Amino acid sequence: MSLVAKLAIAALAVTTSVVALGYTAAAECEGSVRYLSENNDPYRVLEGKQREIYEGNTELLDRDPYLREQLASKEGIQTFEDVVRVLAQMDLVDDEFGRQLVQFLRCEPLPTRFESPLSFMLLKNSLESLTAARTKLYPNSQLPLFGSMPTGTIDAQATVFEGAEDPIIILDRNIYQFTGKFSKTISATIPIGSDGGKVSLSYDKEDMRRRLHDNPWIVSDFSQAMLFLVTSGAPNNAHETLLDADHNRMHARLVNGLDTFIVGHELGHIVLGHARSSTHELHMAGDDRDRPIEVVDHSQEDELAADQVGLRLLVTSQAATGDPGDLLDAAIAAAGSDLFFKLLDLADQYRLKIGKPTFSDKAHPPAASRSENLDRYLQSPEMAGIGLNKFPDFRLLTRNALEVLVEESTPSLDKAFADYRAAKH
Ligand SMILES: [Zn+2]
Repeated sequence: MSLVAKLAIAALAVTTSVVALGYTAAAECEGSVRYLSENNDPYRVLEGKQREIYEGNTELLDRDPYLREQLASKEGIQTFEDVVRVLAQMDLVDDEFGRQLVQFLRCEPLPTRFESPLSFMLLKNSLESLTAARTKLYPNSQLPLFGSMPTGTIDAQATVFEGAEDPIIILDRNIYQFTGKFSKTISATIPIGSDGGKVSLSYDKEDMRRRLHDNPWIVSDFSQAMLFLVTSGAPNNAHETLLDADHNRMHARLVNGLDTFIVGHELGHIVLGHARSSTHELHMAGDDRDRPIEVVDHSQEDELAADQVGLRLLVTSQAATGDPGDLLDAAIAAAGSDLFFKLLDLADQYRLKIGKPTFSDKAHPPAASRSENLDRYLQSPEMAGIGLNKFPDFRLLTRNALEVLVEESTPSLDKAFADYRAAKH
């Protein structure tokens, strides 16, 4: 199928900022750092679990001076000045991003001592971006507690800790590596042209293939990310290439869709009342102990229902005003949720080939069924009414890009997985 979508440059040029930052007068927020874990049960439990994992797996601290400093004393970092000093030693994408992060942290109590400031800001931003849609669709719901836990793989969950009442959303920071790296390579595969003030996107697979042949780094970055994801559970060490401005704008919207959908799915479990106490067992997922860390006993129906709520919250929040620019954001964000399952499905197929358990465990339907569930749901009256059909279907665009990327990377991936199997036996 070949279809070239023409989009107004003005619409595509609206930059989707990955971070929305509130501003509060600096004077009232400077000084000592407040940790919510000191008087909030779920955060106290989370901090204990985080401490246990970091103390037992000190290799996780190798490239993280912030966590090393937190672990060095019982009280952890006490002043905002020290937070900034430690963050300055870290590799924070770029100076502007670093400045945004510092401004965000200045007025923000931190959930726990071991919450990475970076994932804290991203998570909070995703959840807050869903606030308008959440309060409209679920008026009695609240902004949930949230945090991260190092599991070594791409986990996210909504749960209630033993001895605590409020549900909490927990994810592994590796999720941001997963969404970022794949969103970049998918966006880079899409031919974006501009002519006479119009931006054009080509859905044509042969155009995409030509782009991959002209830019071999795209296949190389994608293959590396997939290889690391499949063999080690997370693509953290895979190489990343900076995108040009047009592709970066596409990536910003797509990755926002991926990240926000994942958080929206977990929020879905909470508003549907699925999050409840369960037995928690902590394991580091790694090459040898390759299971997700905690067993959460959701049913497959719960998962499909949470997917629908996640997609509805995502699309409703993006399309809030009904303006064409917002609807366009919503349409691209919807493609992000689709891409999430297509990638998971692909990774599961490769995992089976090399004899590893799939990411989709017993509680989760296969990724392909979850993607079909959302395809059907997008046609339902409550979703069709939002008006995404005013745009070409971006799911077809990202699916085509993924298919071409897979075709082009298959020879090198097959060889890499064969080598991996041979080395294991
Ligand atoms: Zn779930």
